[in-house]
Amino acid sequence: MAWSPDLFADEADAPPAEVRCASVLLPLPLPEPFDYALPDGVEAAPGDHVAVTLSGRTVRGVVWSTGVAPGERALKAVEERLHAPPLPAVTRRFVDWVAKYTVNPPGAVLRMALRGSSPWKPAPTEIVYTPTGDVPAKLTPARRKALDAAVELGEATAARLAKAAGVSSSVIKGLLEQGALRWREREVDPPYDAPDPGFGGLALTPKQVAAAKELKALVQLGGHQAALLDGVTGSGKTEVYFDSIAAALEADDSSQVLVLLPEIALTQQILQRFEARFGARPAEWHSEISDAERRRAWRRVAEGQARIVVGARSALFLPFTNLKLIVVDEEHDGSYKQDEGVIYQARDMAVARAKLGDAAIVLASATPSIESLVNARRGRYFHVVLPGRPGLSVLPEIETVDIRRHRPEKDRWIAAPLVEAVEETLKRGEQALLFLNRRGYAPLVICRACGHRMKAPDTDSWLVEHRYTNRLVCHHTGFSIPKPEKCPACSEKDSLHPVGPGVERLAEEARAVFPDARVDVFSSDTAQDPAQVRAKVEAMASGAIDILIGTQIVAKGHNFPLLTLVGVVDADLGLRGGDMRAGERTYQTLVQVAGRAGRADKPGRAMLQTCMPDHEAMVALCAGDRDGFLETEILSREELGLPPFGRLASMTLSGPDEAKLESAARDAGKAAPNVEGAHVMGPAEPPIAVVRGRWRRRFLVNTDLSVDISNYMRAWRARFKPPAAVRVSVDIEPYSFL
Ligand code: ADP
Repeated sequence: MAWSPDLFADEADAPPAEVRCASVLLPLPLPEPFDYALPDGVEAAPGDHVAVTLSGRTVRGVVWSTGVAPGERALKAVEERLHAPPLPAVTRRFVDWVAKYTVNPPGAVLRMALRGSSPWKPAPTEIVYTPTGDVPAKLTPARRKALDAAVELGEATAARLAKAAGVSSSVIKGLLEQGALRWREREVDPPYDAPDPGFGGLALTPKQVAAAKELKALVQLGGHQAALLDGVTGSGKTEVYFDSIAAALEADDSSQVLVLLPEIALTQQILQRFEARFGARPAEWHSEISDAERRRAWRRVAEGQARIVVGARSALFLPFTNLKLIVVDEEHDGSYKQDEGVIYQARDMAVARAKLGDAAIVLASATPSIESLVNARRGRYFHVVLPGRPGLSVLPEIETVDIRRHRPEKDRWIAAPLVEAVEETLKRGEQALLFLNRRGYAPLVICRACGHRMKAPDTDSWLVEHRYTNRLVCHHTGFSIPKPEKCPACSEKDSLHPVGPGVERLAEEARAVFPDARVDVFSSDTAQDPAQVRAKVEAMASGAIDILIGTQIVAKGHNFPLLTLVGVVDADLGLRGGDMRAGERTYQTLVQVAGRAGRADKPGRAMLQTCMPDHEAMVALCAGDRDGFLETEILSREELGLPPFGRLASMTLSGPDEAKLESAARDAGKAAPNVEGAHVMGPAEPPIAVVRGRWRRRFLVNTDLSVDISNYMRAWRARFKPPAAVRVSVDIEPYSFL
């Protein structure tokens, strides 16, 4: 075509045919990433952090993809690219995967991945000084002291140097001017020490060596491999998986390892074991670390500098660049399930993360979940078994105490055979643990005059009496009030009476029955942070406590060498919930608790107080027949089509007005897609029908393995629109049926 000046003018005025744009995912519960134009001079690639405007506000997000958009689309522009380590591609894929699986908007999952890490804040720096070797012309005594300190410290801030030398900061300034010191700027967040795969470690027993070899071989194979490390409590699973961590570290210079632990309470003791094994403290990631530690960990993981991370479930979302191995310790533990916000089961997500990143995964437990055992049977996981305990340590003898025959007197809970066993234990200078998974003093408070039961005002649950704080507490929401002097219903004074035992009340009984014993209580109320947990564990381990009364917090992996008797005060407690995991969970808890006894060279004994000595879980426990027990559990799940032989999901609707909620739930029920192999039950009122003033209705969906239940739930959710006040939450593979 001939060139014409007119044509040229037209082209110059027309909008460009295409503009570069970035699809940006914001950490907000929005359905998808939004497109923004990339103005000239702003370069951004997928994973980069950018600032954009949304409804007039500046928000930060992550570039999910880049491309071009037609020029006529009036896109808002990316404001700036932020200086932060990019979110790796595998983390972004993981965010998308978790969102899809859990039926949540990807932005809500991204928010978890970025939460508290403040990756956008520039890494803080400080000025540090080192000696140059030159001596100033005028060497005053103060200058000499400061120079000596500088030589000793190697590198330090002016404040640190001045303090160490006992001089004022003007002396440091003088030395700098004289050329005796030089300065440089360094990042405040120090790098983590590099772990050494061959630093330490115990001499493994032949059985441990065999298990370690299997796991090591898996890691060395490379790519995605999964193994279930199945060994009784105290068999040395930790020592064994340490070897597979070493293998992963040796794979290449930048390989990373993530170890998930169910409770922060345990992390502290285990961190020392990591240090002894690898000569370096790993990065920590959980809710108790400081903001500075969080910033350091996030950044150093993203840079690939942090090689081992020990963390709680949210550590899965850290920006690992070269994750080679994930270890999920105590993989059966219920606390891997996050029950609020984005509801997910961290063990299952860990398997997905390992698959996406082509990494190996080791699931370790003395009481593996039925899901993992079935996966091992189906050949999806390698089954690595670690039989027996090392050395002289043996598993405890487990027996039941039939509480119907040995009924303790009124308001007492320790039956005569257990009292006798505690006495014998104390006489030998050994320790006893009384386990009761109930916090507080009494689970129920009742008025003796009118029969009124103290209930939470906004939630369908009884208030639990806590004597140490003299308050009545709702364990579902944390609501609490001082214990009233009068019954709120009939105004009778001093009529409120505790019913049933909690650990505080059990401690009162133990003090009365064993007056010479040193009794202590270990629960999340008496050990509220890692330091307090450590103090309790150390007190018990060193023998400063004779009888420890504890909730499930004691069941988790602690080593107490002098502990030889475990008494489970109410072994039936977990069986009363009646959900599909009740038997399995009870079995797991009791095995874990019983496993605390006899870890060193003293044989242990465990006594279970029960009204159901013939229950399968009790019989199996006493016979040490784990596999027989699990076999019946597995068969019954298979018969009922429950996970892992079918899929389960729940949908809960909640709202402040019961009638409106009821009608919304009915509409939701009508919208459920009709799909072969999917069966919808409900809406039903859950056992706790009101939480924080919101009524609840629940559907349960059970499908064949052929149905993608996440897709089903997403399709269903898109087919109804409840009133604004009604919230809908979806739980894939629910654990809680309350
Ligand atoms: P698990 O993780 O299976 O419960 P641990 O690895 O915590 O077992 O080991 C239990 C206890 O036995 C720990 O105190 C550990 O140090 C000790 N232990 C394990 N293996 C050995 C071994 N080969 N030699 C000496 N002590 C060992």
